[in-house]
Amino acid sequence: MTQSLQGRTALVTGASRGIGREIAVDLARHGAFVFCVSTREGGCDETVAACGEQGGEAVGLACDVSDEASVDALVKAVRESGRTLEILVNNAGITRDGSFLRMSTDDFDAVQNVNLRGTFFVCRAFARLLSKAEDGRIINIGSVVGQMGNPGQANYAASKAAVVGMTKSLAKELAGRQVTCNVVAPGYIQTDMTSELPDDVREWLLGSIPLHRIGTAEEVAAAVTFLAAPAARYITGQVLVVDGGMCI
Ligand code: NDP
Repeated sequence: MTQSLQGRTALVTGASRGIGREIAVDLARHGAFVFCVSTREGGCDETVAACGEQGGEAVGLACDVSDEASVDALVKAVRESGRTLEILVNNAGITRDGSFLRMSTDDFDAVQNVNLRGTFFVCRAFARLLSKAEDGRIINIGSVVGQMGNPGQANYAASKAAVVGMTKSLAKELAGRQVTCNVVAPGYIQTDMTSELPDDVREWLLGSIPLHRIGTAEEVAAAVTFLAAPAARYITGQVLVVDGGMCI
C-alpha cells in the first residue's frame, strides 16, 4: 500500500520507449493516470496500451520539450483534461557523442536544448499546477555521467550535472508548496540509447560495474515509483543513483 498511486495523475516525457516507457507503465501499474509524452502524435500508442494491460489508464500527447511553444501547448492540453497534475517525470533525453576537441557547437547545443532547457521548460510550465496538488512530485532523470564524466560525452555530462543543480534549487524553492524535487541517476541501462556501443566498450563498461551486469529500464522505473509514492514524501533535493555500484 505504501507504493499506491491510486487516484494520482502523472506525466512522463520521453515515454515512447526505453526508460520512459517503463516509468509510465510502472506508475500506471501502481494506480496512477499517466500522460505519456513523446515528440510524435501516436508515438506513445504502444506505451498507452501497455499501461492499459497493467490495469492503468494513460493517454499519449506530443511535445518537443526543447520548444517553449510546444511545452505551452502541452500544459494547455493537461489543463483542459481537468486533471490535477501531481507527479512530473522529466525523462526525455538525447546524446550527441563526440570527442571534446571535435565537438561541434551544434552537438553541444542540441543536447543542452533537450536535456537541460527541455527539463527547465517543462518544470517551469508545470510548477504552478504542481503547487496546487497536494504532495506534488518532480522527478528528473539525470545520469551517473553527470557525476563521473565520460570521454566523448562532455555535452551530455554537462547537461546532466546541470539538471542536478537545477533540481536542488527547485527543491528549495518549491518545498514551501509541499512539492518534492529529486533526480534519479541511472548508470548503464539497456535501451536504444546504449544499443549501439561497440563490443569492446561494452565489455569495458561491464568491468566497471560491481554488480557486473547492465541495468534494466524496469529497475530505473522502480526508483521513480518509489520517489513518487506517499512513503517518499519527506525526501527532497536528492540524487538516487541506480547503477549497479558503478560510481561507488
Ligand atoms: P531512448 O533514446 O530510448 O528514448 C528517448 C526518449 O526521449 C524517447 O521517448 C524520445 O521520444 C524522447 N525524446 C527525445 N527528444 C525529445 C524531445 N525533444 N521532446 C520530447 N521527447 C523527446 O532513451 P533512454 O530510455 O535510454 O533514456 C531515457 C533517459 O534516461 C534520458 O534522459 C537519458 O539521458 C537517461 N539515461 C539513460 C541511460 C541509459 O543507459 N540508457 C543512462 C543514464 C541516463 P521520440 O520517440 O519521440 O524520439
